[in-house]
Amino acid sequence: MKILIAEDDTTSRLLFSATLRKLGHTVTAVEDGHEAWKAWQQGEYPLLISDWMMPNIDGLQLCRMIRGEPGLQYTYVILLTSLDSKGSYLEGMDAGADDFITKPFDEEQLAARLRVAERILGLHNRLHIQATHDHLTGVWNRGAIMAYLQKELERGSRQGTCISVIVADLDHFKRVNDTYGHPAGDEVLQEAARRMGLALRGYDRIGRYGGEEFLITALGGDGSQAEALAERVCCSIRAEPVNSRFGKIPMTVSLGVATGYGQSEDAGMLISAADEALYRAKKAGRNRVETSTRKV
Ligand SMILES: [Mg+2]
Repeated sequence: MKILIAEDDTTSRLLFSATLRKLGHTVTAVEDGHEAWKAWQQGEYPLLISDWMMPNIDGLQLCRMIRGEPGLQYTYVILLTSLDSKGSYLEGMDAGADDFITKPFDEEQLAARLRVAERILGLHNRLHIQATHDHLTGVWNRGAIMAYLQKELERGSRQGTCISVIVADLDHFKRVNDTYGHPAGDEVLQEAARRMGLALRGYDRIGRYGGEEFLITALGGDGSQAEALAERVCCSIRAEPVNSRFGKIPMTVSLGVATGYGQSEDAGMLISAADEALYRAKKAGRNRVETSTRKV
């Protein structure tokens, strides 16, 4: 497990780091709350072990800051307390701590606490996946892709970077359901999501927006990369029919692309621009990409 440890006492920090490494964990050790906050924001740490008493930002504050920033992954927080500490556990729990370890620590007890942490994190991850993914296709659901887009738009407007959205709508999907039945339609949706996923690059994300409609986000660039991505998706869907249990089903997709230039944080505006482009693609005969000329 990837563990972040924040402890201002050098001996204790080294001892914790060595023990955790011996237990097979990957450890990043920092010496105060400020450094911990920076490290936590940069990397995804499922587990933070933080001393309670530290200069600048103490363990409680750090805990509150982390809880105030709901990320995609839950961070399990263990606070370190001294035997003579007057700190109240209730205060720590209110700040969002999950567990407490008293210094000096016992190695077996630490290992046992970590097993509990792993159990809780595993459960949390499973629930998180269920809540953010579309059951049929396995890609993100509408809520998850929209939350991601919103977050990236806010970041884009702070940093002045581009974000493109692609709305992809399978052509004549109702005909598939009517001709081959709904189970065949499900297979087509699964295969379409799989092919779209393969066309993505590292920072692109995809979610199922509704019925046969998918939303893809592409960060950075100037919009032309998003257009190229949309073309790749279009090609990969039309390339060969979907080989379903109900026979080979030919499929095409229409796509609308819109790019935001860091001016607006309005996801709705960007999506409606992409929707307009999609509408043009449909009107122009489907199985193609159209790009919005609207400045968003
Ligand atoms: Mg301390």
